[in-house]
Amino acid sequence: MAQDPPKIYVTRQLPEAALAPLRTCGTLSVWESEQAVSRETLLSELRDTVALLSMVTERIDDDLLDHAPQLRIVANMAVGYDNVDVPALTRHNIVLTNTPGVLTETTADLTFALMLGIARRIGEGERRVRAGQWPVWSPFVFLGTDIHHATLGIIGLGRIGAAVARRAQGFDMRVLYHNRGRNKEAEEQLGCTWVEMDTLLSESDFVVVLVPLGPETRQLISTPQLKKMKQTAFLVNAARGPIVDAQALYAALRDKVIAGAALDVTDPEPLPADDLLLTLDNCLVVPHVGSASIATRTRMATLAAENIAAFLSGRRPPTPVNPEVL
Ligand code: NAP
Repeated sequence: MAQDPPKIYVTRQLPEAALAPLRTCGTLSVWESEQAVSRETLLSELRDTVALLSMVTERIDDDLLDHAPQLRIVANMAVGYDNVDVPALTRHNIVLTNTPGVLTETTADLTFALMLGIARRIGEGERRVRAGQWPVWSPFVFLGTDIHHATLGIIGLGRIGAAVARRAQGFDMRVLYHNRGRNKEAEEQLGCTWVEMDTLLSESDFVVVLVPLGPETRQLISTPQLKKMKQTAFLVNAARGPIVDAQALYAALRDKVIAGAALDVTDPEPLPADDLLLTLDNCLVVPHVGSASIATRTRMATLAAENIAAFLSGRRPPTPVNPEVL
């Protein structure tokens, strides 16, 4: 008897160009919305799903796997996979794939935009203009901080961190970094200098966080770290919200322990409109748009779909996170 084609469930509307290859290797079912699928619908859909194409908004944990007896591959459309319990997937012999590389340059662009935005008070200035409070030009009005020739400290100099460091060369910045290991390529090609975390915090004018979120990096930046930063320095988080202790950051910004912060990611997400951080002019917040360009989101969707197509055709998925189950 012929086997039914495997069910592929996609948790968000995606470009047809990315989905097309999936139509030939299974029965495709797509949550046709820009809103996240509810947990209830997701669990119900997973009863007969073999391949899941998911977003960072979906929590993939033991409870979900209990509802997904046929699941064999999860293709997360993100490079970070802190929304996924990887050991649980591995225990269930399910492959996890992510989308490294294809979003590197776009996320580095946004990271630089955050640095420029907070240093030159772009959000604050725009709010003033819209409110009819255009500040009269005057030598001391709306002064910001220079990025050029400043010291940039990157915590997590991997793919995106290196792309940020490359942009920093054009601004004549001195670049320090801290990883657990050394990134020799970035040292040789981009002139980055590895330093201890405390040195990075105390010497940088811009501290940029680009580590993955995990048990080791949750609240990596809290009161002690913020206190080590210069009073004139800025913190930029373009990685994941919980890496920075939100309450500690609020207190540090309110009390001018540091000059400002720019966040693409927050804890929680979405950040409620009445969150105290949003009362501060020295805090710039954008809604997790690091990889949000048309071309990059299409590349991410395409790579996620390619991982599923390869797996279902018996080939090795291009970017597995837990290759040991293959
Ligand atoms: P990557 O190439 O794996 O780089 C991560 C870097 O962090 C590595 O160099 C790693 O070096 C370092 N690292 C890991 N744990 C560390 C620790 N405990 N202390 C210090 N350094 C540590 O990843 P990527 O592609 O650049 O992406 C980085 C992260 O950015 C992702 O995990 C994701 O969460 C986030 N991201 C956010 C957006 C957005 O929309 N805002 C978009 C894309 C990615 P060692 O292993 O040597 O420590």
